[in-house]
Amino acid sequence: MKIRKNSRIKELVNQNYDQLEPTYKQLHSTPELSFQEKETSTLIAGGLKRLGYDITTNIGGYGVVGILDNGSGPVVMFRTDMDALPIKELTGLPYQSTRTTTNDSGHEVPVMHACGHDVHMTVFLGIAKIMSELKDDWNGTLMMVAEPAEEKGEGAKSMLKDGLFTKFPRPDYALSLHIKPSLQAGYVGYTKGYAFATVDSVNITMKGIGGHGAYPQDTIDPVVMASELILSLQTIASREIKATDAVVVTVGHIHGGNKRNVIPDTVNLELTVRTYDDLVREKVLESIKRKAKGIAMAYGVPEHLEPVVKVKEDPTPAIYNSAELVDTVIPAMKSILGEENVVEIEPVMGGEDFARFGLEEPRIPIFMLRLGTSSEENSTQTLHSSYLSPVPEPTIKTGILSMTASLLELFSQNAEN
Ligand code: ZN
Repeated sequence: MKIRKNSRIKELVNQNYDQLEPTYKQLHSTPELSFQEKETSTLIAGGLKRLGYDITTNIGGYGVVGILDNGSGPVVMFRTDMDALPIKELTGLPYQSTRTTTNDSGHEVPVMHACGHDVHMTVFLGIAKIMSELKDDWNGTLMMVAEPAEEKGEGAKSMLKDGLFTKFPRPDYALSLHIKPSLQAGYVGYTKGYAFATVDSVNITMKGIGGHGAYPQDTIDPVVMASELILSLQTIASREIKATDAVVVTVGHIHGGNKRNVIPDTVNLELTVRTYDDLVREKVLESIKRKAKGIAMAYGVPEHLEPVVKVKEDPTPAIYNSAELVDTVIPAMKSILGEENVVEIEPVMGGEDFARFGLEEPRIPIFMLRLGTSSEENSTQTLHSSYLSPVPEPTIKTGILSMTASLLELFSQNAEN
């Protein structure tokens, strides 16, 4: 039965691919920035509508929800993201993006699908098509969700705030996928448990007392304090947190002073902090505050000039892939792709706001699959690169096959027959 179903899915993927590749190229060459996904969401909504999905647009920005109500059974959500990045494409592909657009601060910037959201959307439309053609083989409700502004970590939040789980059926499971350029096209990767990290943004202002660069004895130099702090922050992971708990503390931006012989009053530092576990996260954030304060104290900074440490509220939470859900869908993927094409991979310290869909109480089991895109083994291509160039056919086909098989498996779980 399963083998027959798999060959039917493959047949449908092959039949539909000729229409999907031009859609992929169109999406790739017409990227839009976060919260500007007007054309993209119109294309997605139009595609779903033609397939008979019940469409709602403008959810939390340009978000689209398409519902295929196919009788009683579980509600399963599949999510794609839609936005692109302010990066200049240098792939030289015939369908490369040459677009520029105006960003939020009014600057003209290049735009590129450098995070594979064009692949995700094409796979999304392929799944929508095949699930509608296979309607007689499953029962339940398929909820197709296209999210805006993932790159800002805002889209999931804004869709949920706009009633994603109250205006529409609340899913029993939520699935998604994200490309992984280091993995070869034709392969998919999965992780049980934590897969992506919690992303905290921390700003620190070290305050001192400025003055002439030749007379540091009359000043309290915030540049020297900031330098000491940066090095000290690196001992949080190595000396304060258990070696088996993952932590990254990166100072990506530092600014202080305007002239070589003037000691400034302040230095600003911008950090990204990555963790999985909530308790580890709290400990790291506390330690950052303590170290900033401790260094200021050691340099004799007066109390009213204590460092200011600001942690941005509502960070992108970590993705925790439900082990039960992984155990349910991975055998279905192995059966359609072949055992060797489905590989267990390590978690990463990147962030993805798909996590939020699982954290609404009562919690929903979620799973994000990683999809290989490259033409060779051990590719050095990376996300957010000007040169990112997924190989369309094997990538898109593998995405659709693995997710369609997973959805059918989930719809058969609670089936009465
Ligand atoms: Zn992405």
